[in-house]
Amino acid sequence: MAKRDYYEVLGVEKNASEDEIKKAYRKIAIKYHPDRNPGNKEAEEKFKEAAEAYDVLHDPQKRQQYDQFGFSGPSGASGFGGFGGQSMNMDDIFSMFGDIFGGHAGGFSGFGGFGGGGHSRPQQHRGSDLRLKVRLTLQEVATGVTKKFKVRKDVPCSHCHGTGSEDGGNMDTCPTCHGSGVISHTTQSIFGMMQTQGVCPTCNGEGRVVKNKCHQCNGTGVEKGEEVVEINIPAGVAEGMVVNVPGKGNAGRRCGITGDIQVFIEEEPNDTFVRDGSDLIYNLLLDFPTAALGGDVEIPTIEGTRLRVKIDAGTQPGKTLRLRSKGLPAVQGYGKGKGDLIVNISVYVPKTLSRDEKKELEKMKDSDNFKGDAATKRSIFQRFRNYFN
Ligand SMILES: [Zn+2]
Ligand SMILES: [Zn+2]
Repeated sequence: MAKRDYYEVLGVEKNASEDEIKKAYRKIAIKYHPDRNPGNKEAEEKFKEAAEAYDVLHDPQKRQQYDQFGFSGPSGASGFGGFGGQSMNMDDIFSMFGDIFGGHAGGFSGFGGFGGGGHSRPQQHRGSDLRLKVRLTLQEVATGVTKKFKVRKDVPCSHCHGTGSEDGGNMDTCPTCHGSGVISHTTQSIFGMMQTQGVCPTCNGEGRVVKNKCHQCNGTGVEKGEEVVEINIPAGVAEGMVVNVPGKGNAGRRCGITGDIQVFIEEEPNDTFVRDGSDLIYNLLLDFPTAALGGDVEIPTIEGTRLRVKIDAGTQPGKTLRLRSKGLPAVQGYGKGKGDLIVNISVYVPKTLSRDEKKELEKMKDSDNFKGDAATKRSIFQRFRNYFN
């Protein structure tokens, strides 16, 4: 399922104020709250979707990044969305409510469904992220593409259904940390004895261990498996961007949270076009008579169609034509919209000539029309100077 634009999710304008975003989120969150819609999967999805959108849009820095790059972060950074989908932790949503309602979330009535009781929540294991590389042609960048990958990864154990337990999940207090989830180390330093605390390695901070470990996964709840994953790459991505696919990475140990897949974008060079952001540059080698007389030429587009373009009489090499919105779309429709197709014109001067052609040209040699005029000389000089400045 394609991710919806965050502004669209909250139903606000792109220039909405923080206050408007907060109000819009609050309205949706109340409407689709799981407690009001028990067992309604669609409502739950809407609730999570809104929480993710709010998480990004109410943070000025994240919002700016999103506006600029869409769902994928800037070069090298992992994108948004790690927060969303299956990897959404209810505690995270919870803390957002605290934010929205101006107090501790536990104090808001109607939240009995999760976490309100004040008991300490056992830490959930999160599966690690998987990284994939995908090499795209410029055509695929132009249209967006769905790619299928067969990935080898941790999946929930088929024998214990991910619980890690032979008998449905009976737990014992962790013998290492006695249930606290933390262990203390005492080390000798130049300042004397130092005490440091760390997460218990036996129970990973949970404080409990499986009583009767599953023989197939040795209590981990995960095993190696394969899955075919369909990944939607939005149009307009560029080399170095990362598309985050939440909830498709390694399964978390013992029914934990599934990690993400991070898709690193690589771009294949194209034989016809040079890419400059969302603009495409096409080099047109014009024949001399058309440059002098004017005429129509055909320009290819990245979509595979051809555009008829009018060439003015007396077109000089180095002239550029800008075909509006015939370039690449910006990621998720952000930025300036669709880029342009820039036609950079060169003029071909014949290398070989027939005797007749030679004769015709000899006649023109002394005509003043064939000598460069002052305005053209100036404009070439200008371009030259701009290039080097
Ligand atoms: Zn198992
Ligand atoms: Zn422990």
